[in-house]
Parts: sequence; structure tokens; C-alpha cells
Amino acid sequence: SSSSAKDTCVQVALRIRPQGTREKLEGSRVCTSVLPGEPQVTIGGDRSFTYDYIFDQPTPQHAVFEGCVERLVEGLFDGYNATVLAYGQTGSGKTHTMGTAFDATAHLNPHDAGVIPRAIQHVFRKISESKSSSLSQGLLEPIFEVSVQFVELYNDDILDLLTEDRATSALIRIHEDNRGEIVLNGVAVRPVQDLETTMEILKNGALNRTVASTNMNEQSSRSHAIFTLHLKQQRVVSSLDENGQPTPPKPGDMEMEMLSAKFHFVDLAGSERMKRTGATGERAREGISINVGLLALGNVIAALGGATGKVSHVPYRDSKLTRLLQDSLGGNSRTLMIACVSPSDSDFVETLNTMKYANRAKEI
Ligand code: ADP
Ligand code: MG
Repeated sequence: SSSSAKDTCVQVALRIRPQGTREKLEGSRVCTSVLPGEPQVTIGGDRSFTYDYIFDQPTPQHAVFEGCVERLVEGLFDGYNATVLAYGQTGSGKTHTMGTAFDATAHLNPHDAGVIPRAIQHVFRKISESKSSSLSQGLLEPIFEVSVQFVELYNDDILDLLTEDRATSALIRIHEDNRGEIVLNGVAVRPVQDLETTMEILKNGALNRTVASTNMNEQSSRSHAIFTLHLKQQRVVSSLDENGQPTPPKPGDMEMEMLSAKFHFVDLAGSERMKRTGATGERAREGISINVGLLALGNVIAALGGATGKVSHVPYRDSKLTRLLQDSLGGNSRTLMIACVSPSDSDFVETLNTMKYANRAKEI
């Protein structure tokens, strides 16, 4: 809430979705309460948690984007990597929040669009604004290159959601280049020029995502889905006058700079305990494998020091998920975890678990 808190590298938001029709019919009570105007939530009447942002039940999609994601998109244009992670039990609103909940006819309600479509829209809007403002100042137009990738982490395998041929997944490797940048070898990189084509790619990838039903009997996702947007730009370096204000450079005296950054949007696997879903055999193996990623992620984010920014050893290598996100968690990157929860007392145990997990991200 203070201005310095906005600059820390890890932030945590809590989003409480509205009760569904079934929960209401079953007579579930709301067990969460949020003090108006304060980022504090109370669960079960006596446990309270504070986060950087809290979005209670009726918060519309645009308010979530404007409240905590938009500035990360802005940062991308200054070369800062960013990661948004949606965490929570199956059915808590992760996919809705990220904006990849395409219906059977593959439509997306633009008024209800989530984080990813809004971020894409913001990127292309900023690009065209930046081009036309350079043009009106008589400056060289900046050059932008945008590309996207979309992968799924399932049982510790990486699947390319933008490629039909699933056999290629065996060839995918996580590679760290000599500048410490993580590159996914063998994964399709799609250059994109506008919102429409990018949305089409996002949709096709989202519809490719592996889903397996569990006893919770919903489209429970046991995999992590990672949509990545890369932004490269070549622009005129603006020089500063003695008051620190940018001055337009004189033509012929222009220095160009290259900036490159990426934004990961991560729809994490359901955080629910296996016991609750009654998973056995093959499912149980999936469950265990997924927990390794979420466990490692929690440890990495906790090690990054949350609000204090004090960094100790960061165990990135403990899972493929954290390895893949390594160059975008900590360092010069901005990370936002959106912890998604149900308000219903029937989900009390999982909601409390999610709140505790999210709380670790701020603990020292
Ligand atoms: P998850 O991806 O965590 O399993 P979903 O995003 O699929 O959960 O959400 C589960 C259900 O709740 C969906 O029917 C979704 O439309 C609904 N839902 C989730 N969040 C909201 C919200 N903020 N407002 C309205 N409906 C929501
Ligand atoms: Mg989902």
C-alpha cells in the first residue's frame, strides 16, 4: 500500500471469487470477510492475513488488471521481465482471472476479459502510441518485435501448446544461455503483429491444454500453463537535461538502444491436496509431480524475501517450473502472485491453505 511496497520485486494479491450457483443451492456460507479499504482478509472469523492487494467478490476483471498488472506491462517497455502467477485450488478462478477460459465455441467475452487479453491489448496500444508520438516529434520510429510462446508443464514434461505434433515435446530442453537467460529449445516462437492474431494463438493453445477430470468432477487442471510474451525494441535513447527531464535528441545525434524483456503468465496447477480429490494410481503420480512444482515455487518466492527484498539462496533448480521461470523471478524482474480463493465455508480448508501459501511470499 505504501509507495515503496509497489517497488518490491514480489507482490501478492488475493482474489475472492463470487459464490457459484451450486454453492448457494447447497447452502454454503461465505467464510471470508474483507475490511473496506484495507488489504486485510479474515477467514472463519478469527484468522487474518494482509496482502499487497485484495480483490473481494464483486471485483470486475478490469479492476484486477488496472490494480496490479498494468504497471508490470508498462515495465516491460523499460526492459523489466515480469511474471504473473495464478495460484489456488481447482475452481477458485485461476483460469478466469488469467483470461484463458474460452467456452466450447471458443468465444471470449471482451467485457469480461482477464489479465492476458488485457495485457496483449495494452502492449499493442502502447506500441502504436509510441510509434505515432515519435513520428509527430520527427524522430525515428522505434522498432518493436513481439512474439509469443505457450507451453504446458505436465508430469514434469514440457508440452508445446502451439504445436499439433506432441512428439516434439521429447526434444524440448530448458537452456540457460551465457547471459543467464532461460531459453526453451524446441518450442515454437510465434511472431505477432496485432491483438487479433495473438488472441487467436492464445485461444488455440488454451483449447489444446490437457485436462483430466478428478473426483472433484470439474475440468480440474493438473498442469501448469505458461503463456510468454517477448518484447524487443530498438529506440532512440532520450538524453536528460540538467533538471533530469528528457530532451528530444537532435537529428543526426541519435543513439539507439535495444531493450528486450519477457512476460510470463502462469496458470498454475490446482493446489488442492490429493487426499481430497481421491486421486490414486496414475492420477496420484500426477498429483505428486505437480506438488513438487508448487512446493519449489513457494520456496523460491519465500527465498526472494518478499517485501524486504533480502535474498538468500534461491532454490530454482528444485523443479522444472522454477527452472523455467528462473530469469523472471527475482533479480530485475517483477513477480505478482494472484492467490485465488472460493469464499464458501465448504472450501474453508483449501482457502486457508492458499492464504498461508500466499502469506509465505511476504514472510522473511
Ligand atoms: P480454476 O481455473 O481455478 O479451476 P476457473 O477459472 O475455471 O477456476 O473458475 C471456476 C468457475 O468459477 C468458472 O465457472 C468461472 O467462470 C467462475 N469464476 C471464477 N472466478 C470468477 C469471478 N471473479 N467472477 C465470476 N465468476 C468466476
Ligand atoms: Mg483452470
